[in-house]
Amino acid sequence: MTDVLVLNFTYEALNITSFQRAVKLLFSGKAEVVHGRAQMLSSPTYEMKLPSIIRMLYYIRRPMQKVALTKKNILLRDDYTCQYCALKGERLMTVDHVLPKSKGGPSTWENLVCACMRCINRKNNRTPEHANMPLRRKPKAPKYIPWIRVKRNTLPGEWHKFLFLYNVSIDEVVEAG
Ligand SMILES: [Zn+2]
Repeated sequence: MTDVLVLNFTYEALNITSFQRAVKLLFSGKAEVVHGRAQMLSSPTYEMKLPSIIRMLYYIRRPMQKVALTKKNILLRDDYTCQYCALKGERLMTVDHVLPKSKGGPSTWENLVCACMRCINRKNNRTPEHANMPLRRKPKAPKYIPWIRVKRNTLPGEWHKFLFLYNVSIDEVVEAG
């Protein structure tokens, strides 16, 4: 694969582009190479390593995309990890209202977490304090999810650290701006 991961000035993943487009950005001085591949790219006028990751040398403003509040996105945000017992697994997880619905708990990013069935049964419609089941971390609305559709196993290893910034599994199709 010769695709190139493009990072913003701030090292956030922006998108994936062709190496032709990446080379254009490099030659016009708009981007720099963060990681090159072993293969060389040559033409009569230049020779360089095929870029794998480039970074823009100025900040690209992107409209903030609201991430849809869905069960799947809650599970993705929490990386399929039970926020009470830390069990991890895609098939076992569901969504729990931290403050139970029956007690007026809203369906919001801040009140929904990924939880396993065992913990949901144990919590039994109580607050975490009442059930003595503290949350592993405070649930928050994700700010932004990069619009990158890729399968983990097709990714060059060096991309991973930039694509896990958002605690989003890239095995999933993730859509936004
Ligand atoms: Zn659990």
